[in-house]
Amino acid sequence: MSLDRRNFLKIAGIASVSKVFANTNQEKKAKLIDLSLCDGCADFKTPLCVSACKTKNKDVFPKPISNIPNYYPQKFYEDYQDKKDEINRLNPYNFIYVEKLNIDNKNINIPRHCMHCDEPTCLKICPFGAISKDNSAVKINPNVCFGGAKCKDVCPWHIPQRQAGVGAYLKIAPKLAGGGVMYKCDLCADISTPACVSACPKNAMIYANKEEIKLLALKKAQEYKELAKDNGTYIYGDKQNGGTATFYVSPISFEKIQEAISKKHANNTQGIAHMKVDVNNKITSNDKIIKSVLLSPIAGVLAGVLLRKKNEN
Ligand code: SF4
Ligand code: SF4
Ligand code: SF4
Repeated sequence: MSLDRRNFLKIAGIASVSKVFANTNQEKKAKLIDLSLCDGCADFKTPLCVSACKTKNKDVFPKPISNIPNYYPQKFYEDYQDKKDEINRLNPYNFIYVEKLNIDNKNINIPRHCMHCDEPTCLKICPFGAISKDNSAVKINPNVCFGGAKCKDVCPWHIPQRQAGVGAYLKIAPKLAGGGVMYKCDLCADISTPACVSACPKNAMIYANKEEIKLLALKKAQEYKELAKDNGTYIYGDKQNGGTATFYVSPISFEKIQEAISKKHANNTQGIAHMKVDVNNKITSNDKIIKSVLLSPIAGVLAGVLLRKKNEN
């Protein structure tokens, strides 16, 4: 579909309506990741969940134009074309990575991707209505996304990743600083079981009815806590950012896990997700910055973009 200004506005309009009217009859599902079962696919060069995700999304990954225009006045743009094979952090060509840690002489492996929040801050902040949520998955529409990365800024884990040289901005405002498209895991919303879940040889990930998953996660976490005999946190994703559709349980507390993650990635956190236990939702907590952005109407933002383009012509 050619994407001129009229088409863009039409898609943006549909997207902003459809995110409000999500299919409420659809069963809510969630993923449980049991870190006691994941061995990081020790016998494989690339963890099988990561390989499966790359295969599943091969047609989704960005295909930028060959001469990506510089922004103006700031020139820098993000281009991950030479990092297509990267597997150890998130980028527009890698929607899941496995964090490999050693804590108290025990190996722990943590598959990381979008948490699919119950109240997604990314969705609420997007001025173009490019992000939608069905009952489980939070998805970015690449035809509508402008790449402004507000979603990444407000995501507690900075999950969405930007690639320049692709998307609607090229037709409408090619020199717009921050132009591009944001990419992330969409929970394989078009198939019944996520590819990463099906690929896992250890059944470390399961995907099922959300209430059942939550009960199982709470039960497992309680068992891990009793074994550890301390006050640590052994479940992750149930409360963080107001609740999510991704539940982790671990025999090692998430406080210790976060300590190890922050040490390991002290020098470069790009594409790396933390596991801090206290994660407030900036929307429900009425964060001032979020509030001010939410108050600016979509039409105003679009008008600004189109005005800038007009002035440049
Ligand atoms: S979740 Fe499963 S597939 Fe992924 S690294 Fe762990 S064991 Fe391997
Ligand atoms: S983890 Fe971040 S990108 Fe994913 S749904 Fe939550 S706020 Fe959005
Ligand atoms: S749910 Fe799908 S898109 Fe998300 S990490 Fe797994 S395979 Fe990749």
